[in-house]
Amino acid sequence: MTYKSKFGFGCMRLPQTDANDPSKIDQELFNEMVDIYMEKGFNYFDTSYAYHNGASEVAIRKAVVERYPRESFKICDKMPTWALTSPEDNDKFVNTMLERLGIEYFDVFFIHNINVPWFKLAEDNNTFEYIQKMKADGIAKKIGISFHDNSKLLSKVLDKYGDILDIVQLELNYLDWEDPAIEAHKCYDLCVKHDCDVYVMEPLKGGVIVNTSDEIKNEFNAFNPDKSIASFAIRFCASLEHVKIVLSGMSKMSDLADNCDTYENFKPLSDEEREFLERMALKLRENVAVPCSECGYCVDACPEMIPIPEYFNLYNTSKNQPESNIYRLYYDKLGDEKVPADECTYCGTCLDHCTQKIDIPEKLEELCEHFEEGFSPYA
Ligand code: SF4
Ligand code: SF4
Repeated sequence: MTYKSKFGFGCMRLPQTDANDPSKIDQELFNEMVDIYMEKGFNYFDTSYAYHNGASEVAIRKAVVERYPRESFKICDKMPTWALTSPEDNDKFVNTMLERLGIEYFDVFFIHNINVPWFKLAEDNNTFEYIQKMKADGIAKKIGISFHDNSKLLSKVLDKYGDILDIVQLELNYLDWEDPAIEAHKCYDLCVKHDCDVYVMEPLKGGVIVNTSDEIKNEFNAFNPDKSIASFAIRFCASLEHVKIVLSGMSKMSDLADNCDTYENFKPLSDEEREFLERMALKLRENVAVPCSECGYCVDACPEMIPIPEYFNLYNTSKNQPESNIYRLYYDKLGDEKVPADECTYCGTCLDHCTQKIDIPEKLEELCEHFEEGFSPYA
């Protein structure tokens, strides 16, 4: 396996024609990006039943399946674990996914977003046995889980199902490597112990790593002015021996160009670079008000329809750039059609959905206090 073969096209954050409607994908731009990606010899597409409200799978059918020979690309899709209500649902969801994608088999198939409550749902609905049968029947070439919890749960899952799983998809990046909530390092080691390949999601932690303070940006620039912050984050992941795929969610042509450059000229991380990233991780942690990766899973779960990641993004930006006009943005949001952050009823429905284990109602309350205290219409 070459480093180049590790570059996976994550299809959770595709370009959109309407920023407020995730189902409106800019198909023309996505097709162009796919053509460049494929022409350069990359071939792995990662999607799920849930991404872009189902439109991600359809966009892949149009851009990839209908335009390239089946054997020239690989597709990974994922069971919507949280939506399972009976064992029959396994079949129902898989048939819908195959139909949306216009394919007859998946190269990789995951049980999506395993955490404590959804591990139970997957077990209650025989989903581990189901994906094992998918592999035996040739519907999935490789099977695994995407995982969003700590090492204690992963250890339990792998002790029970490690023998049947080929792959674990982990949130892994240099910010979360030693993070006590995400435990990426410990989870990686468990996968190695159980001989499961590691596929990486969120190498940039949903943009938290790159949308940072000017001080941190300047440090990167001084360290190496020729390489982007994103390139360091990707090389951190792809340099790990048991990592076989690193997903990059790309919504702009410039993201694709930067990633192509990283993989076409790939150099494993040096010891000096690793030490530098460890230092930057410490600084980043001080700057991040909420470690939200903007995955959006909480939004569909919230009965009040609060645009939670948008508020957390504003909160983080206001910490990174206290001099910006972010306060104005917050109050503008309260004034338009968005539901205000202080309409949270503390129902807790969102908590099981959060991939980052954030106490969402507590953080919403904290940010409301922050903006009230820090608000200045002249900032
Ligand atoms: S706790 Fe607040 S943010 Fe979470 S689902 Fe309930 S109302 Fe929405
Ligand atoms: S709060 Fe949690 S679930 Fe919601 S977007 Fe952020 S990381 Fe995802």
